[in-house]
Amino acid sequence: MQKSQNQHYQSQSYQNKRRKPEKLFQEPQLETQSDESDTSIIDDNDLEQQTQFRETSITLNQDQFQLVWKSPYRTDFYTIQFPYPEMIFDIRTEQNLVEKAKVTLFYKFKNGKRTSECIEEVLKAAGFQRTYNNSKWLIYWGKFNQERCRNLNQYQKINHFPGCWSIGRKDNLWINVSKMKRKFPKEYQFIPNTYLLNTDFQKFEQIQEKANEQELWIKKPVCSARGIGIKVINKTTKLQYNNKYLVMDYITKPHLINSYKYDLRVYVLVTSVDPLRIYMYKDGLARFATETYSIEPQNQDNKFIHLTNYSINKQSPNFNNNQLDQQSKISHKEYKSILLNLGIEPKLIFKQIQDLIIKTFIAVEPHLMSQNEKYYQNKGNFFELFGFDILIDEKLKAWLLEVNVSPSLNTQADLDFKIKTKLISDMFHLLGIQYHTSSIENSLPKTKLIRRNLNDINQINAQNFKSKVNSEDLELMILTLEEQLRLGQFKCLYPNQKTVSKYDQYFEHPKFQNRLIEKYFLDGSNWIL
Ligand code: ADP
Repeated sequence: MQKSQNQHYQSQSYQNKRRKPEKLFQEPQLETQSDESDTSIIDDNDLEQQTQFRETSITLNQDQFQLVWKSPYRTDFYTIQFPYPEMIFDIRTEQNLVEKAKVTLFYKFKNGKRTSECIEEVLKAAGFQRTYNNSKWLIYWGKFNQERCRNLNQYQKINHFPGCWSIGRKDNLWINVSKMKRKFPKEYQFIPNTYLLNTDFQKFEQIQEKANEQELWIKKPVCSARGIGIKVINKTTKLQYNNKYLVMDYITKPHLINSYKYDLRVYVLVTSVDPLRIYMYKDGLARFATETYSIEPQNQDNKFIHLTNYSINKQSPNFNNNQLDQQSKISHKEYKSILLNLGIEPKLIFKQIQDLIIKTFIAVEPHLMSQNEKYYQNKGNFFELFGFDILIDEKLKAWLLEVNVSPSLNTQADLDFKIKTKLISDMFHLLGIQYHTSSIENSLPKTKLIRRNLNDINQINAQNFKSKVNSEDLELMILTLEEQLRLGQFKCLYPNQKTVSKYDQYFEHPKFQNRLIEKYFLDGSNWIL
């Protein structure tokens, strides 16, 4: 029998990452399996038996193992290791990997649809198989569905948070961020002023009337993507009352590279909303327009000048022809080196981006929390990968244009494939899909996060920590620390040593758990072991 592709990835990455072979990989005595065999996946039922074999140090066949990540904070807690698929030609440097008996791993995609190549490759490389009707899946990738969310077991992960549209729709994003802007006008000055063409229609009419001839805005559908329905407008454009559109101040002087406008796609992973845990990916894309920038009125309708969407620009006669890259996009790494060549320190830009990401999530936090409270028993089941679209203006100020809840994972271009495959692999690895050998039918304990008194933090220290916190505080702390050991190319934006105190002022209710983790970081000793 042909060796499956799945096993091939697995064994290749094993080769690359394996520690010195241990006794376990001596010639198999338990049973013989040829290389051709594709029956190496051990059924859940067999595992107890397997474990006993290991304990009595009887050796197993190499194909019967998988690498898992071992928590340094808990005994017998492991998560599935996600090696980079072979075609990426790269290896994530990792610690805490051990071998455990292989278990059957299932993932599910929405309604049997094909999903992006990079997700499939990553899951295959980790030994996952697709299921259509089996309920034993560990990862679900699809639309948010209330019913599905109510019947989850503790091992399952779904790729959306309840209420994610509070950030993913352009109108909701503005409603939430502008509330904060009223409270903190200077600090929340990172989304261009926006007018909803229902509630703000009259206000915008007055602004348009008073504006000078040069002023421009951009009209967008509140809930669409890929540049569909977007138009640059001016003082003379007649608008109608409409709840499906908004108008945003147009950034007329964007920063240009080789005279082309561009925007940045930044990937952000949220693993928890209560309390917030936010990670930013260190790589991403800069996407270019395909005609040189001009603000002349006769070019106002030219989408290849004003919009940087890939789906728009690939239709341009100049696509592949802007001397930057074959596909009108480059990685953040290349973008940063272009900036350096222009004498611009990339940190200037990326620090602003990190700041606006944290502030955006704090702005939507009350809404996300109230939506998630309905599913409090499933709080560990959700995660979300967001795509932040950022425009840099000529003064190098970063502006948030929108947040995508389902950022494109298309991989037509090689560059996309490389970046997005690593992104997805690092994401699943960071999430920590728990390795387990028992039946997965047991449901979650129904505990609700108890609001704690912030002042209690002052009394907590390394010595009394365990007697002062409850089991949920401890678990949250361990989860946070574990995630920070599986970062790959993610950077933890929140909570970290610097960000907790810095951003406390913006929270409606500062969180005990965040203060606790800050105290732990600042103390520097290991309270848990
Ligand atoms: P979509 O979800 O359809 O992609 P975006 O809000 O991302 O909508 O806008 C599409 C493109 O339009 C952006 O990538 C950017 O190039 C341009 N754009 C959007 N808003 C502005 C703005 N306020 N100023 C300048 N350009 C903008």
